Amino acid sequence: MTDLTKLKIAEARDMLANGDITARELTKAHIAAVDGFDALNAYIAKTPEIALKQADAADARIKAGTATGMTGIPIGVKDLYCTKGVHTQACSHILDGFKPEYESTVTQNLWDDGAVMLGKLNMDEFAMGSSNETSFYGPVKNPWRKGEIDTVPGGSSGGSVSSVAGFAAMGATASDTGGSIRQPASFTGTFGFKPTYGRCSRYGMVAFASSLDQAGPITRSVRDGAIMMQSMAGFDPKDTTSVDIAVPDFEAALTGDIRGMKIGIPKEYHMDGMPEEIEALWQKGIAWLKDAGAEIVNISLPHTKYALPTYYIVAPAEASSNLGRYDGVKYGLRETVQGGSLPDMYEATRAAGFGEEVKRRIMIGTYVLSAGYYDAYYLKAQKVRQLIANDFKAAFEKVDAILTPTAPSAAFAFGEKSDDPLAMYLNDVFTVPASLAGLPGSSVPAGLDKDGLPLGLQVLGKAWDEETVFKVSAVLEEAAGFIAEPKIWWR
Ligand code: GLN
Repeated sequence: MTDLTKLKIAEARDMLANGDITARELTKAHIAAVDGFDALNAYIAKTPEIALKQADAADARIKAGTATGMTGIPIGVKDLYCTKGVHTQACSHILDGFKPEYESTVTQNLWDDGAVMLGKLNMDEFAMGSSNETSFYGPVKNPWRKGEIDTVPGGSSGGSVSSVAGFAAMGATASDTGGSIRQPASFTGTFGFKPTYGRCSRYGMVAFASSLDQAGPITRSVRDGAIMMQSMAGFDPKDTTSVDIAVPDFEAALTGDIRGMKIGIPKEYHMDGMPEEIEALWQKGIAWLKDAGAEIVNISLPHTKYALPTYYIVAPAEASSNLGRYDGVKYGLRETVQGGSLPDMYEATRAAGFGEEVKRRIMIGTYVLSAGYYDAYYLKAQKVRQLIANDFKAAFEKVDAILTPTAPSAAFAFGEKSDDPLAMYLNDVFTVPASLAGLPGSSVPAGLDKDGLPLGLQVLGKAWDEETVFKVSAVLEEAAGFIAEPKIWWR
């Protein structure tokens, strides 16, 4: 029998429609795969009863002829999405025991389409990190190893990418504030897609930096990403930053035809000290697109060098404000102090409940927002953010899409960067510019490095032109001809 966990979403969709398999069979195979995946610490809560119930409903729906692309497809959900009555802590200690009273819009959209929930996925605490080492539940392992050495899956969506790369979910929801979908996708040979800011509702997603946070899928192919995005996207009056514009048919964009399309190559992304292999892969990607009939255009995004410092002011500033709500009163952890006052309780709760990286961000954020420093840091960063957005705007007058590497390195070993926040932040150098500009982007698995670890290429598009990002991504995927399958060592 074929291993059902190795199917792509598109393949499973067809087999379900033809009656070759049932959603119950597919779900059972995945529940077993999730149980066999414990060594990687990707799932922090499993929901097999919910999954089987949803699978039966999906089977009924398939019989009735009302199935959509996601009907009967088993997926994992990043712990950042509120799931009614189910563990939702953004992998923080401070949300201990929190089970939301309501469902996030994005997950509700998926369930409405008949998707099946396998469980909640590990992540960096409050999505702050690039290696999944800041989670209260401990780090996630990457299914891809460097010889016998374990590597990080990237972050913050570490559980999402690990489970999808390791056949313990057909797809997963993730979120991207400064690269948390694209960088971990690059580290695990998966496809990651971040839509335009405003395309998916943020309602019910635990907030990190609200002007940057966006939902998106992790899958094992570009087509699967398009199918999952179709379900996740859409206007939602419950999120004031969600935009009321029609959602195109993403899968229909996968025509394979990019003839005459103009692809921009930004000179500022040739970074000093970047591994040669990454530069070489980028050159390969350029050649692939050229061979497919695209025109390659050299472009400049002059403010790129300010993107990382700008992001690490804007994101912590918003985080310090968003995280003000965790005070031990409304939900989660409460640390009381014998004979203490209310502020004593707040302090004790926050001291015990937040991890080190989260505290660092709160302190940076509070500092850059405080009187006397606001103009010099926060306001300045907002102005630079506009200049970065203007760079893209000017570039997109000349080109249809932009191609860059996703990350400046392949997956690294545990502990390699966790003591050096700046080294960790540098991982985000290629992903944060598009986040600041609110643009759609993807990471496409494009090859392996000399240690056999996956590397991704990033495609960026104009606002609301996700279709072009999907189309170019699919051409790269096809040209790379690279089947991203890690050796299975965990079961
Ligand atoms: N690594 C970045 C950070 O730590 C991005 C995180 C994200 O996109 N959620 O802020």
